[in-house]
Parts: sequence; C-alpha cells; structure tokens
Amino acid sequence: MTTPSVDALLPLTHLSEDERLLRDSVREFAQARIRPHVREMDEQAKFPRSLVDELFALGIMGIEIPESFGGAGGRFFHAVLVVEELSRVDPSVGVLVDVQNTLVVNALVRWGSSDLKNRVLPALSTKAVGAYALSEAASGSDAFALQTRAREDGDGYVIDGRKLWITNANEADYFIVFANLNPEAGYRGITAFVVERGTPGLTVGKKEDKLGIRASSTCEVILEHCRVPRSQVLGEVGKGYKVAIETLNEGRIGIGAQMLGLAVGALEHTVKYTKERKQFGKAIAEFQGVQFQLARAATDIEAARLLVYNAARLRDLGQPFLTEAAMCKIFASEVAERTASLAINLFGGNGFVKEYPVEKLYRDAKIGQIYEGTSNLQLQTIAKQML
Ligand SMILES: Cc1cc2nc3c(=O)[nH]c(=O)nc-3n(C[C@H](O)[C@H](O)[C@H](O)COP(=O)(O)OP(=O)(O)OC[C@H]3O[C@@H](n4cnc5c(N)ncnc54)[C@H](O)[C@@H]3O)c2cc1C
Repeated sequence: MTTPSVDALLPLTHLSEDERLLRDSVREFAQARIRPHVREMDEQAKFPRSLVDELFALGIMGIEIPESFGGAGGRFFHAVLVVEELSRVDPSVGVLVDVQNTLVVNALVRWGSSDLKNRVLPALSTKAVGAYALSEAASGSDAFALQTRAREDGDGYVIDGRKLWITNANEADYFIVFANLNPEAGYRGITAFVVERGTPGLTVGKKEDKLGIRASSTCEVILEHCRVPRSQVLGEVGKGYKVAIETLNEGRIGIGAQMLGLAVGALEHTVKYTKERKQFGKAIAEFQGVQFQLARAATDIEAARLLVYNAARLRDLGQPFLTEAAMCKIFASEVAERTASLAINLFGGNGFVKEYPVEKLYRDAKIGQIYEGTSNLQLQTIAKQML
C-alpha cells in the first residue's frame, strides 16, 4: 500500500491559510459593522446602501471573478465561508452576498461571452449588485413552466413577463432574466438574458413584507416590451434551462452555508445566555438537561458543516456534487430551524421577545426550506440519483 499524501489526510474542516484569513476578516467585519444594525434592519426591512458599499470594499462581492476583471480570483468554497460567516450574524446579509456570488457571478463567469464578461464582471466586482429572476407566480418548483416570453426583434429581443420573489431586486443593477423564446420547444426554448437596470421596460415592483430575512429585498420584476440587444444573451439561445439548473445546483450549497451560519449564531447566543441566566441558584447551563440539548445542537451543526463543506469542495474539484448539494441544503436548513427553536426555548420568555436576538433567527431559518428548491424538491433530486 502506498502512503497517502498529507493533503489526502486533511480533515474536511481544515482551512488553508487564505481560507482562514478570509473567514477571520469576514467574521471581524460582521461583528463590527453588521451586528449593531441587525435589529434595526429587520424592523425596518431595509438594507442600507452604505452596507452594500462596505461589502464591495471588503472584496466579497466578486469572489470567483478573475483578478483580471477586478474580482478576488477565489473559489466557490471561499464564497461558502463568507456566506456562513455573514449569516452567523445576519442571514439577510448572507443571502445578498450569496445570490451575488453563487448565482449571478457564477452564471456570468461560466456562460458569459467575452463581451458580456468585459462589460459586466468589473462592475459586479466593485459596485454593481446582481439578481436572479427565474420564479413567477405560476412557476416556482415547476420553474420551467415560466410564462415570460422573449421574441426576436431586429438585432435584439423583446421580453415580456412578470417575475416574482426576486432577491436583491431593490439593490440590483443587473438582472439575469429567464424567458421562453420558443414555447413550442418547451423548456428548450428557455433563454437567459442579462438585463441592466434602467433598460426601458424593466421595472421593480412590489416589495414583499416577509416573515424572515426581512432586510433582504424580495420583489416583483416586471418586463414590458423590454428590448435587449443580442449581446445580452447569457449562454446559448435555448440553453437557459441549463444555465438555471446548473447555477441552482451550485447555489443551493450557498443556502446550506447560510443556514449553517444561522445555526452557529443561534447556538453561540444560547451558550452565552445559559451561562449567564441563573435559576434555582445556579446558571441554567449547569443543568445536565440543558447541557445535553446544547451538545445535540453542536453535533447537528458539525454534521451540517461537513455536508456543506464537502459539497463545496466537490464542486471546486470538478467532481459530481448534485446529491451532496441537495443533502447539505435540506439538512442544514432543518438544523437551522431546530437550533433556532432550541435557542428560543432556552432563552425562555426572553427568547420570545425582540429585545433578544434569537426570535429573529427562528423567523429567518424558515426560508432555507423554501428557496432555491423546496425541501421536497431536494428529496426528489436525491431520490432520482438513487433509483
Ligand atoms: C424570500 C424569497 C426569496 C426568493 N428569491 C428568489 C430569487 O432570487 N429568484 C427566483 O427566481 N426565485 C426566488 N424565490 C422563489 C423560490 O425559489 C420559490 O418560492 C420556491 O422555488 C418554491 O416555489 P413556490 O413558492 O411556487 O412553491 P410551490 O412550487 O407552489 O410549492 C408549494 C409546495 O408544494 C410542494 N411541491 C411542489 N411540487 C412538488 C413535487 N413535485 N413533489 C412534492 N412536493 C412538491 C413544495 O415542496 C412546497 O412545499 C424566492 C422566494 C422567497 C420566499
């Protein structure tokens, strides 16, 4: 038997020097610059532009964009670490950065023509936010039943339709819009377009008033005779379904990271609180009944982290990761909900009021089982690979 290399023996949670530095700098930033505003952002359902600018200044809005386009030249795993750390403090900030990197940047880096990349990637690295507009009122899980239509018009296309639930729509400068150019061909007519904010015919509509991740904007995006030149097609005409499937397969690892970070944050608050809160003459953390609950949550989180990191590392290695990505999202989102629920229980009455941070995390956790493919759809993906 040959001796395995040291690299092959590294645990999944081992971080390289650059990964550790990135994680620590984002952790510090989240504590100093986000933590003080979490409650206000949630209550006002607002994401301050100044915070968006700070995220750009930190260099985490174009993680996989090559340095030649002004990006960080990093890997998908770096994005996962960043989303985890931000979500530990505020999952609303986590999802803004997640959509930017794991969906929008990812799609442009993989499918953008060199012309599109030259025009859009430098902006996405430094100042422009992206949104990903696939869902519609009548097509959520059944995304490819979308009703938004595109038709050829001279040297470009005209898009008409209404997109619903679009994250980052308020802040976005670029929208990846999926429209069907040839409905007779079914999903093979779906084409992805990059539509710039300000293009006549594109408007951002109603902003949703949500249960959780309230600071993250979720809006309708309306396209009325919205004309775009041919150069705005992302990938090949009729291959938008491939762009959507493949980016969402990867994007859901980012949601796994968001939910992992949320769970870590909830448990940290809980450990601190249970060591401080006294009942029956001692800290409640001294009761074995409480300790066992904390230990179980820590075990859940460790398992979620292994699933998320493994899926992300498989993706970076170019190995199949479809099942692992679905598993990490479903599991991490359940762990997030369980951990935030336990946090409320162990905070007692204080867990139920807004003065303490955990009721917000419980509300935020719910979205993990819905967007980028509901838990049922993740189970469907896993089962398909098995049968
Ligand atoms: C806050 C938020 C942000 C979002 N951001 C974006 C975004 O940026 N871009 C975007 O394009 N979309 C976005 N979405 C949309 C999101 O991806 C969809 O809501 C999600 O895919 C579910 O679709 P739906 O809401 O239509 O639910 P439905 O598809 O109607 O599902 C309802 C229920 O039926 C179940 N179900 C459906 N089909 C099956 C089946 N075949 N087998 C078993 N069960 C099934 C589902 O699991 C679910 O429990 C966002 C949604 C929210 C709430």
